[in-house]
Amino acid sequence: MPNPFTNATKQLENAAELLNLNKNILEILKNPKGILEVSIPIKMDSGKTKVFKGYRSQYNDALGPFKGGIRFHPKVNLSEVKALSAWMTWKCAVVGLPLGGGKGGVVVDPKKLSAKEIEKLSRGYVQAMKDFIGPEKDILAPDVYTNPQIMAWMMDEFSRIKGYNVPGFVTGKPIEVGGARGRKFSTAQGGIYVLEKAVKRLKMNSEKTIVAIQGFGNAGSFVAKILSALGYNIVAVSDSRGGVVIDQESGIRNQKFKNNGLNIKNIIKFKKETGSVVGFPNTKTITNEQLLKLDVDILIPAALENVITEKNASRIKAKLIIELANGPITPEADIILEKKGIIVVPDILANAGGVIVSYFEWVQNLQNYYWTEKENISKLKTIIEKSFDKVWAKKECSNISMRLAAYMVAVERVAKAEELRRGL
Ligand code: NAD
Repeated sequence: MPNPFTNATKQLENAAELLNLNKNILEILKNPKGILEVSIPIKMDSGKTKVFKGYRSQYNDALGPFKGGIRFHPKVNLSEVKALSAWMTWKCAVVGLPLGGGKGGVVVDPKKLSAKEIEKLSRGYVQAMKDFIGPEKDILAPDVYTNPQIMAWMMDEFSRIKGYNVPGFVTGKPIEVGGARGRKFSTAQGGIYVLEKAVKRLKMNSEKTIVAIQGFGNAGSFVAKILSALGYNIVAVSDSRGGVVIDQESGIRNQKFKNNGLNIKNIIKFKKETGSVVGFPNTKTITNEQLLKLDVDILIPAALENVITEKNASRIKAKLIIELANGPITPEADIILEKKGIIVVPDILANAGGVIVSYFEWVQNLQNYYWTEKENISKLKTIIEKSFDKVWAKKECSNISMRLAAYMVAVERVAKAEELRRGL
């Protein structure tokens, strides 16, 4: 399995080379500023005590406080957390936010825990990290298998420790406790704004466009719902248990789709009831690997990292890939996709909608003044579309991939801040 942090470093080095970046600054940018590893003891429902391992990587804060989600997943490891914190740094920078990058994780399978145990774990993570996090230091948010309820528990725990309400230490909270309106679908919405920009540039026809989505959680299910309402034909979706593709005898092309391919509203309902998209009526079951290789126009990885590697990249048929997941494509696979002429809108731009609205949430928490959903989403649109145009212009003028162009914009911003602050 490729090492995510090696991938993240390679992406930085590629941009640094083109930018002719000062070697001293590159050395700084290649390392997280700090890493915390903690043990979180939890008294389980059975009465036994179990100790969980938790991480926080604080990558860079030259532009502002560290900012990044927390993941509850059995495969969380230090390399992954470091990579995710580096990607957060470049993500905040490419869209011009006054924030740095961080990320956290706990090695746990939350599906095996009761709600009470998950609450204890969430509070335990905050207790263990309390001296290193906070609205001016490091701001948390949801990621894979964490959600607004978990953010509410974390906010409550941190406020309890401080003795007063501190909503701005975590974003992605429920609206009732200081969450931003529209935050829950903002990652998907941001992805759609850049997707539509790319569709226009590539002169694709949205009504005939066929889409496959890997991952059906917060990012994947909202993107499916919004795209389907816009008239895109979603033909395949998946989750950790596998995928489903629309069952059409003559294949997924040249069909007159009824209801825009799969009925996404019904699939969301089906997954709520059964726990998976697998088994949805009138579909064929496929693997996550098969989904990636379907003959579609747009592929949206929205689950985990390292799913498109040098082993399967040559068999990807999509013309456009929107990386809603963080790090789904390895650097080796990037080279193959570029040679095939496939346009990849990179994660640091494509899924930045979440952190943009998280930034709005933080600002609103600090000033105790709340905006409407319309205000949040229209400001998101302005920021992400402007960032897309900037990255696209760089790609066109230097004849490079969108990933490299996005990294160049981001790395240049962080490097300049480091240079000014350190006098290098
Ligand atoms: P989530 O927990 O809501 O959903 C994750 C989905 O991935 C679930 O449907 C799960 O079944 C599926 N999944 C898990 N393992 C899988 C596997 N091996 N193969 C296929 N599917 C699998 O998480 P999310 O918040 O939607 O995050 C998904 C991705 O988007 C992650 O890479 C995350 O870092 C990224 N992301 C999320 C946000 C956000 O605001 N939620 C923001 C930016 C990036």
